Amino acid sequence: MAHGGQRRAAAYARMAVVTSSDCLFCRIVAGEIPADVVHETDATLAFRDIAPKAPVHVLIIPKAHHADVGALALADPKLAGDLLAAAAVVAKAEGLPEAGYRTIFNTGGYGGQDVFHVHAHVVGGRPLGPMLAG
Ligand code: 5GP
Ligand code: ZN
Repeated sequence: MAHGGQRRAAAYARMAVVTSSDCLFCRIVAGEIPADVVHETDATLAFRDIAPKAPVHVLIIPKAHHADVGALALADPKLAGDLLAAAAVVAKAEGLPEAGYRTIFNTGGYGGQDVFHVHAHVVGGRPLGPMLAG
């Protein structure tokens, strides 16, 4: 997305969002780290995962920093809804609903969360196998 970084940086400067300068995804929102953005709203950003686990693998985040989906839902249920709506829009735009796909929120250590800025993984484009490994 041409100049998306600069546009996001300008929008971000105007927003009263809670962000963390040492958070990878806050830095993507700020335009400091490039990302392959596929969808953006005032409150959310969606970009392709750098290490895709399926033919389609998009991350959807709120622009405001919340550590995980539980913290987000409790602090700002409206924003949690916006995040789910953005995930649905991305899934549709990627052509996933007909065959089916998965929306995943990893949470904490046992959940395999590596980046502590809440993100929905939207994955699809092939059969995804059982819900849990092992
Ligand atoms: P988690 O393990 O926290 O649920 O998912 C973090 C995801 O972020 C991983 O799938 C990983 O590949 C992705 N990721 C890590 N660093 C970057 C990055 O700099 N850019 C993008 N687009 N994705 C990233
Ligand atoms: Zn963050």
